[in-house]
Amino acid sequence: MSMLLSRALCQKIRLDLVGGESILKSDRSPVTIADYGSQAVICKLIRERFPNDTIVAEEDSKELRKPDRLKILEQVTHYVNAFVPASSSKEVCSWIDFSSNAMTDRFWTLDPIDGTKGFLRGEQYAIALALIENGVVILGILACPNLYVDIHHPFGEKGCLFIALKGKGSFQMDNNGVSKRTLSVSKVKNPSEAIITESVEPDHADHLTHQRLAKRLNISKPSLRMDSQAKYGIVARGEATLYLRVPSPSEPGYKENIWDHAAGSIIAEEAGGRVTDVLGRPLDFSCGIKMVKNHGVLVSNEILHDVVLKALGM
Ligand code: AMP
Ligand code: MG
Repeated sequence: MSMLLSRALCQKIRLDLVGGESILKSDRSPVTIADYGSQAVICKLIRERFPNDTIVAEEDSKELRKPDRLKILEQVTHYVNAFVPASSSKEVCSWIDFSSNAMTDRFWTLDPIDGTKGFLRGEQYAIALALIENGVVILGILACPNLYVDIHHPFGEKGCLFIALKGKGSFQMDNNGVSKRTLSVSKVKNPSEAIITESVEPDHADHLTHQRLAKRLNISKPSLRMDSQAKYGIVARGEATLYLRVPSPSEPGYKENIWDHAAGSIIAEEAGGRVTDVLGRPLDFSCGIKMVKNHGVLVSNEILHDVVLKALGM
């Protein structure tokens, strides 16, 4: 429920503020408003339903409470009110701050807007929520408001909700959380038939190494460049075979955030995929907000995983 409200809130902000001519795309205020609004709504609903659970989310309200941010706070409150009527600015800040960095045995992790650059470009972004118990992701939910429902109809209906529960499979629902489809990864066995998905952003991955790998494996199909964890969704649906994220040479020591991978990873795994770092190690969500024990990410249809790890040779 919280994901559907948050998805609607983010889309409304995107259409009102990014869609208009009045705001330059370089102005980050629309994404800021959407980030805070999305986090407020989701944290409020999680806290109501699971009062003892910890939430580890990307934002806090420190900046928002500053007097010179009053206008932004008013806008956040305005949008939250459209979905949670009669909420005050004070309440909105307190809901955002249900998030803490105190890692407990069981906690939720939230990226209120993953793929902010995609959000501003009108391309892909995701609202990503996962539940982690003893370092294991047991539930992942990914709302992708701009993702086409079916790759065969790229101009058809948009808006997908991915849900995966440990041991129970991975599913896609429509915009209203109604029609349910079981997901499974691609059956491709021959590496040359694989389709790679990777970040749009030049500095978020080592695209040159990805190209070299594609050449080594005789992959000729163009890669699908896409923002956000929507990439995990299209691997889970079998539309991409591999999601590559070798750290960028501009930031070789970059450590991934847990909220950028927790929800997506279980969605790909429960659809039959495999998720490791680029050295073949399982993703470790137990070290804090940064995945300090991992280096990059590799997602596959399982069949091709070892072949790709070997070809990467990292
Ligand atoms: P994507 O759209 O796949 O590039 O993922 C977006 C996420 O990339 C954001 O949520 C950031 O947390 C993360 N990010 C930021 N800087 C880097 C970087 N240098 N390398 C990898 N990921 C990054
Ligand atoms: Mg993110």
